[in-house]
Amino acid sequence: MLDPRDETMVAVSGGKDSLVLLHILTKIEKSFPDATLCAVTIDEGITGYRDEAVRLAKKHCRDLGIEHILLTFEELYGYTLDAIVNLTEDKGLKPCSFCGVLRRRALNIAARNAGVAKIATAHNLDDETQTTILNLLHGDAMRIARVKPKQDKVHPKLIQRIKPLCMVPEREIAFYAYLKQIDLQSVPCPYVGTALRNDVRTLLNRMDEKHPGIKYTLFGSMGKVGRALEAITEEQKLNTCKVCGEPAAGEICKPCQLLQSLSYP
Ligand code: SF4
Repeated sequence: MLDPRDETMVAVSGGKDSLVLLHILTKIEKSFPDATLCAVTIDEGITGYRDEAVRLAKKHCRDLGIEHILLTFEELYGYTLDAIVNLTEDKGLKPCSFCGVLRRRALNIAARNAGVAKIATAHNLDDETQTTILNLLHGDAMRIARVKPKQDKVHPKLIQRIKPLCMVPEREIAFYAYLKQIDLQSVPCPYVGTALRNDVRTLLNRMDEKHPGIKYTLFGSMGKVGRALEAITEEQKLNTCKVCGEPAAGEICKPCQLLQSLSYP
């Protein structure tokens, strides 16, 4: 995933996974003088939650000597996530659906503006196996081919994403953070309970307790299915969004579709 001359931006939310990733990559980077590292935090605008995370992200970056960039949903899209939730609560739309899509776009823009070649995100083994099941539950099986440790560069405006912790279970990351006494965010996101991901997390954790190692098996199977899907489908090139000019799966990208839906009655 990493090359000796990489210019990498770490996505730091302020949670344990991203702070552990920041600490580990900073340590590794010291052995590679031609490599550079910076960090970005996307502030979605969630009252009482992101403030602590942003403060922690800034503090850790300052302590480690890493440049920190802050980008907000409000400056990029004109709305905070709280405002989006207010506008959509009667329409049955989930906050996490907006948050995930708009955050991915924001990360890509931040990385492009910073001129880096890669974005490192702190997705762990639990995240990756949950995403596999979620893709199946959403009827989006072909997306399995896109869940991989190192994303293909399928559009000139897309910065390559890597997931260095994708084979590390969440509890091991928590243990590392504890051993290293990394100061972590204590407040949970107020919208976390609304996500289907929670139920999938509980299901997988129960299965892993009864059948230890099942998450690794699922991760391995996912890789094989993804490669098989890639072999039988055409290379997944992205289009350019007709509205904003960013990468898009169809004619209009998902962030634009979501933002446009905010103006529907
Ligand atoms: S729980 Fe949902 S709304 Fe909260 S930060 Fe995560 S994705 Fe965003």
